[in-house]
Amino acid sequence: MNCIATSLFDIFKIGPGPSSSHTIGPMRAGADFLKRLASLPAGQLSAAHHIEVELFGSLALTGKGHGTDRAVAAGLLGDRPECCDTERLASLLSDPEKVYRASFGPHDAIFTKQSIRFHSGKHDFPYSNTLALRLFSETDELLAEEIYYSVGGGFLLREGETVPEGNPVPYRYRNFESFRRLTEKYAMTPAEIILENEAALSGLSGEEIRARLSTVIEAMCDSVRRGLDASGVLPGPIRLSRRAAEVYRRAMSPDTDDTRFLLLLDAFALAAAEENAAGHLVVTAPTSGSAGLLPGIVYFLRGIRGVRMEKLVDGMLIAGLIAMIARRNASISGAEVGCQGEIGVAAAMSAGFLAAVHGYSLDVIGCAAEIALEHHLGLSCDPVDGYVQIPCIERNAVGAVTAWNAYMIASVSNPDKQKVGFDEVLEAMLQTGRSMSPAFKETALGGLAVCTLCG
Ligand code: SF4
Repeated sequence: MNCIATSLFDIFKIGPGPSSSHTIGPMRAGADFLKRLASLPAGQLSAAHHIEVELFGSLALTGKGHGTDRAVAAGLLGDRPECCDTERLASLLSDPEKVYRASFGPHDAIFTKQSIRFHSGKHDFPYSNTLALRLFSETDELLAEEIYYSVGGGFLLREGETVPEGNPVPYRYRNFESFRRLTEKYAMTPAEIILENEAALSGLSGEEIRARLSTVIEAMCDSVRRGLDASGVLPGPIRLSRRAAEVYRRAMSPDTDDTRFLLLLDAFALAAAEENAAGHLVVTAPTSGSAGLLPGIVYFLRGIRGVRMEKLVDGMLIAGLIAMIARRNASISGAEVGCQGEIGVAAAMSAGFLAAVHGYSLDVIGCAAEIALEHHLGLSCDPVDGYVQIPCIERNAVGAVTAWNAYMIASVSNPDKQKVGFDEVLEAMLQTGRSMSPAFKETALGGLAVCTLCG
């Protein structure tokens, strides 16, 4: 049985926006390629001269808007997503003549903006978001090649790499139902099981895991705070104005008493989503495109409701669990299943998070997550001009409100009477995603993207 053995910290990654599969994944691919070059035989190393990169599928079709070329270049220059300088990243490759040097041990290889090509035709690779990185000699002899698949949420697969046999986690489950049965069998809380599995994967103690999740929460709150403080126009040709600060100002004005709750949720989710669109540091939850939804809710609970960090961490354990189950049984990639896999899963994570923070049972948590995802089924990914701005930014705010509503409905319902479970809605999402035309899966070839461009 292929069990879930994903680390919470692979779900919640800190990195630059605007798209985890188009920025964090490719940056990690560049860095991984560099690491592998360092262990090449001496003869190949001494002949190393230049690097070329090809981007396929949705990485080619929307990669310019997402800054995929800059992300892979940054990885080749040794940057890591969690600590990359986003100002430097934004200016990379701006000079087409500039020659960059990727260093691996005492050796290096050069590349320029032209070395990274967007290959927009069809391809035969098994995943849409594919990168080919190659090292050549001065006479164009191929010295090394790696193919990477950026499979959503910043996760990366390397061609030929097999998932290790056996499972290192003590509590083996593959979906929500089997996780629920584990809690009964061992008379453990969901948090205890998640923490023990995480300890086995990361080698951290329970206390260290909770501390690290607090750091993730701080990073989420930072992204909201920065977004609320920012103004002006977001990068790219759409020239979309930031709105979070104004929505916040309106939320706090005395004449909005009855709508303040909704406007605050909107403002906080918009703030982090705008930071993502600006290419600044955000936390994937489960992706960068959906990095406003859960962080907006977290910020609301912390800043407005004064919820203690300990409770928020409890909620994060559940949000991470929901993302892992969604990734294992369906997808969290817009390029694979459309936006239902990003904003839909983010809403499910957030609804489950809210139920956990408020002390509800695992059954209510599952019910909240199911309702939130169910009402995102069929949601396409059609970013205008390939930029994670329209509809993505507003979608985070609308998704946050839906998530809160799903939690509320679940919290006053009898979960035994729920007809559709979280596992079933994931199956429905996967089927829907598979039936979707590629035009609606992060290619900017259909839907809102095309309509708006035609208008
Ligand atoms: S439409 Fe949704 S899935 Fe597509 S880029 Fe925007 S947030 Fe991501």
